[in-house]
Formats: sequence, structure tokens, C-alpha cells
Amino acid sequence: MNTAAALQIEGLRKSFGPHEVLRGVDLAVAAHEVICLIGASGSGKSTLLRCVNLLERIDAGTIWLDGQEITRPGVNENAVRRHIGIVFQSFNLFPHMTVERNVTLAPVKVLGLSRAEAAAQAAELLDRFGLGEKRADYPDRLSGGQTQRVRFSLAIAGECDLIVLDEPTTAMDVETRQRFWASMKEEAAEGKTLLFATHYLEEADQAADRILVINRGRLLADGTPEDIKKRAGAKRMSFRLANAPESFLLGLPGVVSLETRHDMVHIQTDDSDGTLYGLLDAG
Ligand code: ADP
Ligand code: MG
Repeated sequence: MNTAAALQIEGLRKSFGPHEVLRGVDLAVAAHEVICLIGASGSGKSTLLRCVNLLERIDAGTIWLDGQEITRPGVNENAVRRHIGIVFQSFNLFPHMTVERNVTLAPVKVLGLSRAEAAAQAAELLDRFGLGEKRADYPDRLSGGQTQRVRFSLAIAGECDLIVLDEPTTAMDVETRQRFWASMKEEAAEGKTLLFATHYLEEADQAADRILVINRGRLLADGTPEDIKKRAGAKRMSFRLANAPESFLLGLPGVVSLETRHDMVHIQTDDSDGTLYGLLDAG
């Protein structure tokens, strides 16, 4: 494996019962990179991020963090998580604790900081995110954007090297969103690696160095925002085909994404001729 990679994944597979959600994911993220994982709802983004944080038992594959294999048996999961700052799509603050206590408690419990260290860090984080005046409030008094900022301060608490964000700006207003991405870029400039999921191409375009497109549990494209935008401007094709063999369709030249509903197949392609000829060749 490449020891320079902050995060490397090979052959990752994960099913829930008969449903194969991740179908062989390979990726490598270099240190200090800002990577966006983009894909439609249900494509497997959250599952992938949860696997990286060792919150799902994977069926096959290997994950390395800074060159250490974290999927080997007997690994100390808490020690691994200490190196990852994560904001989940659905994670609620403790409702009966003040904002300050929310931001203090997790670093004590999860990262093993002393209370004094955690309190000092919480004060600094709350200031930095413009939440100083909200420290004594309970979470139900916060706006959606403020809540996201509290969750975000939790993610970057401690000395994590990799920050994982699952659709972080969903509830944010425009101003909060801009502030959020500005502070993300500061984190990256300070040497942290960022991996975030979204389904907004504009957001990926603004924030990411590199975009990975995931579709039904497989990476379909990997490139700069420029590359991916070109592909997303791709042409659409639709046709009727009963029992469409998905793996075949995904393997056609130019295919960016695939959706099948009943006997209708919808394909996005950046090479409609190539896709069409591939189809015709196969009869
Ligand atoms: P995304 O984040 O891209 O919207 P997810 O990773 O949340 O996608 O989900 C991918 C698929 O896996 C979905 O079809 C979802 O229903 C399924 N899935 C996710 N978590 C579970 C689970 N714990 N049990 C069963 N199915 C799940
Ligand atoms: Mg998700």
C-alpha cells in the first residue's frame, strides 16, 4: 500500500442482509486533501463513512489510516477513532446539557482529555464558531445552523488528522455555510485531511480538491471538480429493458450514473456514442 495516504481503502464490501450496499470500493486520500464523496441518496455514502469510523462490521476489504490497517482483528477501535473527527448526518446533541457541556463531554469520554483540558478546548471552539454567547443555552434554543456549528466543533475537538463530514451543511443558511467552509479550509491548510459527503455538486465544486462519484455502492468517477462537472453535464439516455443487468450497464463506455426503475433504464453518460455502441454490440 501507499504509506503516504492518509486514508486508503481496498475492496470494501458491505451488505445489510441481501442488500449489497458497498460493492468493492477502492480509494486513496492523500494527507491534506479535501475530498468530496458525491452520490444520490441511498448510494452508500453514509455507510462508507461509517465503515471508516469502524461503526459497521465490514464483509470484505481493508482500510488503512496513515498506513495502519484499522480493519485487522483486535484493533483498538477507540484509539482509531481518536484520529478521526466525524460529523454524522444524524447525531443529536444531548438535549439536557448545555452547549458548553455538550462540547466538553465527548472529548473527555471519547478522547480521554482531562476535564480542564476539555473545558479550555470547548471555550476556544465555541468562540471560534461564534457560539460564545450560546454556551449556557440548551440545544433546543439553537437554530439549525448553530446546531451544526456545535456538532462541527465536536468533530474537530482533539487532535484528529482526518475529518469526516456526512452532509454537514444540510441545515445551514448561506452565511453559516460560507463560514463553515472557510473554517474547513483553515483546517485543511493546517494539515488535516477532509472527507465529506454531499449530494450538492456546487458545494463539492467550491470546497473539494477532488470529487469521488459513488453510485449504488461503487465509485464511478474520480477527478477534479472540473472533470466531474464536465461529466455531470453529460447526456442522459433512457430506454426500456427488462431485467437490466446492472453490472453490464455500469461497465459501458462513458457511463456516469445508472438508475433502473421497473423496466426503464436511465443512464447519464459523457460519451453517448460509446454507450450506445456498447449497448448495440451486446445486442
Ligand atoms: P447515502 O448516505 O448515500 O444516502 P446510505 O449509506 O445511508 O446511503 O444507505 C445506502 C443503502 O443502505 C440504503 O439503501 C439504505 O437503506 C441501506 N442501509 C443503510 N444502513 C442500513 C442498515 N443499518 N440496515 C439496513 N440497510 C441499511
Ligand atoms: Mg447519507
